[in-house]
Amino acid sequence: MKIGIIGGTGFYQPGLLDNEKDEVLRTPYGDVNLKTGCYKGRQVVFLARHGVRHTVPPHLVNYRANIWALHSSGVTKVIATAAVGSLNEDMRPGDIVLVDQFIDFTKSRPQTFFEGGEAGVLHVDMTHPYCPELRSEIFQIASRNRIPVHRCGTYACTEGPRYETPAEVRMLRKLGGDVVGMTSVPEVVLAREAGLCYAALALITNYGAGISPHPLSHREVLDAMERAQEVLRRLIFSAVEQVREERHCSCASAADELGSLGRKTDQEE
Ligand SMILES: [Zn+2]
Repeated sequence: MKIGIIGGTGFYQPGLLDNEKDEVLRTPYGDVNLKTGCYKGRQVVFLARHGVRHTVPPHLVNYRANIWALHSSGVTKVIATAAVGSLNEDMRPGDIVLVDQFIDFTKSRPQTFFEGGEAGVLHVDMTHPYCPELRSEIFQIASRNRIPVHRCGTYACTEGPRYETPAEVRMLRKLGGDVVGMTSVPEVVLAREAGLCYAALALITNYGAGISPHPLSHREVLDAMERAQEVLRRLIFSAVEQVREERHCSCASAADELGSLGRKTDQEE
């Protein structure tokens, strides 16, 4: 089994990998830089979502190339990190949330591998956007390692790269958002189309605008990520080591129900 790790803001190097190698993987959407290696016998493929020097803003991340690259390198389970703002006073800066739902407010991003024609049309089911099995396993691993984690939460995804206004933060709260970030959509959607099990560890770096007593800065986000780095890494690598190889969820078959002319992503190269 190969496990994919997508490192978000403040998480640009996997660390801890044996035989770490840099690879460039060619996809129909562009080239992707990956790091591959092993951790306690498990094969790992790491990808820095914003590039290793944070050079790609959230709305320009090549989500399709990234997910395609993980899928075509044989990854079946993906653990992603994301720096988020909190909309919920019970979720405090420094906390980790195993998000289970999203609300999408993005505006400009390709959201599917299935653009019609040869590729077919897919209306993928989103009842469980984040793999329930992988989330539950990570939650148990966190409990065993005494790492406090919120079992679920709703991720409101905005377009960015600007932060939200206090009025938007009030709106997102009212609509049921617990955390706000800029990257989970379409990443989770594409992972689902590709038949991957995908879980996101949302690390709260700050309260949303208007809840926070001061204006937000990227520096504040990076500092919070820096402080949480060790715990986050410990949780991710415990999960890499301990998640089960078998899959009892329905993630692998999410793209089975294609419209006419469809073909499955695993038949495409
Ligand atoms: Zn799954």
